[in-house]
Amino acid sequence: MATSIPNAFIDDLLNRIDIYDVVAPRVSLKKAGKDYSGLCPFHHENTPSFTVSQQKQFFHCFGCGQSGSAIGFLMAFEGLDFVDAVKELAQQAGIEVPLTQVNKQQQHDRNNLYAITEKVTRIYQQQLKNNNKIIDYLKNRGIDGKTCQTFQIGYAEDSWDGIAKRFPNEQQGLLDRCGLLSHSNQKSYDKFRNRLMFPIHDRRGRVIAFGGRAVDDEQQPKYLNSPETDLFHKGRELYGYHLARKHSTADHVIVVEGYMDVLALHQHGIKNAVATLGTATSSEHIALLFKSWSKVIFCFDGDAAGQKAAKKALLTALPLYLDDKIIEFLFLPEDHDPDSYVNQYGQNQFLQQLNQAVPLSQYLLDTISTGIDLQTLDGKAQLYERAKDYLKQLPSGAFRQIMQNKVSQISGIVQHSRPTARHQQRPKSTHLNPMRRLLSLILNQPSLCEQIPKSLEFGLLPYKGAEIINKVIEIQADYPQINPAALLEHFRDSDYVSNLNRLMVVYDHMDAAELASEMADLIAHLEQLTTTSKVNQLREKQLQGGLTDLEKQQLVALLTKKIK
Ligand SMILES: [Zn+2]
Repeated sequence: MATSIPNAFIDDLLNRIDIYDVVAPRVSLKKAGKDYSGLCPFHHENTPSFTVSQQKQFFHCFGCGQSGSAIGFLMAFEGLDFVDAVKELAQQAGIEVPLTQVNKQQQHDRNNLYAITEKVTRIYQQQLKNNNKIIDYLKNRGIDGKTCQTFQIGYAEDSWDGIAKRFPNEQQGLLDRCGLLSHSNQKSYDKFRNRLMFPIHDRRGRVIAFGGRAVDDEQQPKYLNSPETDLFHKGRELYGYHLARKHSTADHVIVVEGYMDVLALHQHGIKNAVATLGTATSSEHIALLFKSWSKVIFCFDGDAAGQKAAKKALLTALPLYLDDKIIEFLFLPEDHDPDSYVNQYGQNQFLQQLNQAVPLSQYLLDTISTGIDLQTLDGKAQLYERAKDYLKQLPSGAFRQIMQNKVSQISGIVQHSRPTARHQQRPKSTHLNPMRRLLSLILNQPSLCEQIPKSLEFGLLPYKGAEIINKVIEIQADYPQINPAALLEHFRDSDYVSNLNRLMVVYDHMDAAELASEMADLIAHLEQLTTTSKVNQLREKQLQGGLTDLEKQQLVALLTKKIK
């Protein structure tokens, strides 16, 4: 586990709370057999494919594949990180999280950094209040005092030590770690000078970095962002996210390119806009947005750079595309960005533009057919080839099939493909190799580990997974009452976690007695397989150079066992 909350505490916590009590206040659930089901909160659907199992303390959606423990549910539903989700559950259960010394130190350390960014934000805000020239500049750009207040806009003085001098010597290191200082010739000085300052907030509204915009035309670069720090990772953060989430009642979010775009839209009552921070849209951004909204509209400037950014966003979005999520692209008239557009034409006209955003399917087809003459056979073949590269990046599902059909229609080339299922199927146990079946069984009901004979050597089998099975057996031995979801938490940071999540639901249809008998059959089968591979090993050795007396005895014993 990445944090230093002890595993034993997580096991205990997940045994004390009931996942039903965590999910039920947030999702309407109905009893369905031994489990509960409801409409999935993580994707849009009309028929329930979201299930909650009290027995396993586990939730799973057969539509979008989201699954996990009560901790995982809170993380996904509330946008919390692991430690915060654990803290919230512990509070519900009335127990205290035993943060280790290292963890307390880290927490303390981060709090020190937040205290610095917060204080610097206030200094910048005060400096803005004192500077009429900058206030006029903002007024000219159509930004009023209320918006400045909401976004905590400030101003960094034209000074080499405007910030540094306000902090005692022992805090200079912290300033540096917040990315507020630059260095040259062993001297440090303020990174941001004579700039309009945009604090960048995390999901909980804490300031983690700054963006600085030049106020004089000749000043370079026009935009200067904080470097990556312990608090700030560009590819993960979106400007305005916490406000968009707080104020937005819409089902969609607008992704724009710049701070000023977010501000201008907000001021015109369009409060569901966020901006990437001088980077291209990342897959982490898109995943984050789809957690809170079902539709993402990329709104790029009307110029060539805007087109380029849109294409990048398209390429990032394709592999993440889900049938129930909507992605659209809005291209403003050339010479306009969202800021200038909404200021010139107002809210209504901008919303009208938004209604005309191009769906991803259309934009994808446009992109694929750019520069191709579709009147010629050559052109059609070229389109078909180019489309293949794009379409294979789409996850299989209804949308990919529709796109495939469209491309076939235009090009006149038909590819015969098997229809893809709309929903994730429950993996069938008969499709799994014996090791995976074993893993599914003990994940489903950890106490089944006790049926596994110590003599069974998984390492001899030609399948992967021995390591994980041994780990599960070990965890269950330490904590015989552990529930499936708590068991899974031990693998939160492992590469296999999504595989394990899928294996959790394989045996859902069986009751305890059926599981035990399945387990007995499987163990008998695995014992036979290990015997066979041991026999083969010994025979191989016999052919190559003979066996020791002990090995001969072993071989005889194994063969007798096999015949029995
Ligand atoms: Zn779902």
